[in-house]
Amino acid sequence: MRPAEKTGCTRCGSCCTHQSPSLHFQDVKLIKRGLLQPSQLYTLRRGERVFDNIEGKNKTLEKELIKIKEKPKSSSCIFYDQISSACSIYSQRPLQCRVFQCWNTQPLLELFKEQKPTRRDIIKDKDLLEIINYHDQRVSPERFHGLITEEIPSKRDTELLEMINFDLYFREFISEKLGLQKEELDFYFGRSLIQCIRPYGYVIRGSQKEGYVIEASKR
Ligand code: SF4
Ligand code: SF4
Repeated sequence: MRPAEKTGCTRCGSCCTHQSPSLHFQDVKLIKRGLLQPSQLYTLRRGERVFDNIEGKNKTLEKELIKIKEKPKSSSCIFYDQISSACSIYSQRPLQCRVFQCWNTQPLLELFKEQKPTRRDIIKDKDLLEIINYHDQRVSPERFHGLITEEIPSKRDTELLEMINFDLYFREFISEKLGLQKEELDFYFGRSLIQCIRPYGYVIRGSQKEGYVIEASKR
């Protein structure tokens, strides 16, 4: 049955397997109560290139978003249980999931007009926030965008690789120094540049030891 033919939720699971929700202020309490962990979330930073499900195209993010992670190499929400075809946190699911009706987009469009929380509304540790600010400046999505759309490839690659190397080194260093789990880093510092480069049609290959190269991705 197509969404337009539905009048209620048939629990087909399509919405949970095609996207994960972004958090609203009403969901912050789920993090405070430990029902949602930093390792289950990631941040999309302002200025990042992202795919907009509503508009069906890539666009530059104007405001930061916190999202629930997707399963590896999938667009399915990590809380969707394929075997039981159900949400594993149903009674505590985020507001966006409560509001979503595939047969009626109006409630979701109304919800999207509301301001959403950023890391600064969730993290209370001032030292950690300072480190986040420092990382945001050194690994700025806006600067990254400027470099990747730079027309002189040699300039683009040199500065980009410098930024990518710094980002990867920083994550490893800070995770060790502050005792953060690797799975939490995408929430505290946003996605690594290795992931951010994909919507531009590039991939980064190599390793920290052997060095990285930027290549056009095969579509
Ligand atoms: S709201 Fe989601 S689970 Fe319910 S019918 Fe629509 S796509 Fe399926
Ligand atoms: S939190 Fe639950 S309801 Fe929301 S997208 Fe994930 S699996 Fe679906």
